[in-house]
Amino acid sequence: MSTDCLFCRIVAGDVPATVVHETPTTLAFRDINPVAPTHVLVVPRSHYENAAALAAGEPATAADLLTSARAVAEAEGLDGYRLVFNTGADAGQTVFHAHLHVIGGTTMGWPA
Ligand code: IMP
Repeated sequence: MSTDCLFCRIVAGDVPATVVHETPTTLAFRDINPVAPTHVLVVPRSHYENAAALAAGEPATAADLLTSARAVAEAEGLDGYRLVFNTGADAGQTVFHAHLHVIGGTTMGWPA
């Protein structure tokens, strides 16, 4: 846990969030600035800077993020949804605690 890290502080309960799902290794909460009707972030409870660092350091928890995302999508009644890991500043990552975006509830085009 890093006291400088916003998502560590949410995991610790020090910063409020709308939690929609939790497991021993993950926490899922609504994005504060949603880009779609459903926009949930699934984060590991442990601090890793991004998804690549998580996959290297705690691969089982990286897999747990996908399982949690599936549970979120099912609870939200999503037919189709998008999972996004922005990994590194060049990819648009702004919070440097690994997180999986679960985005859905609308029709999306591709490329994003
Ligand atoms: P990134 O750009 O992939 O790093 O995504 C960071 C996400 O965190 C953005 O979609 C933000 O809207 C979201 N975010 C930032 N602060 C908070 C917060 O306090 N609660 C919930 N979501 C947040």
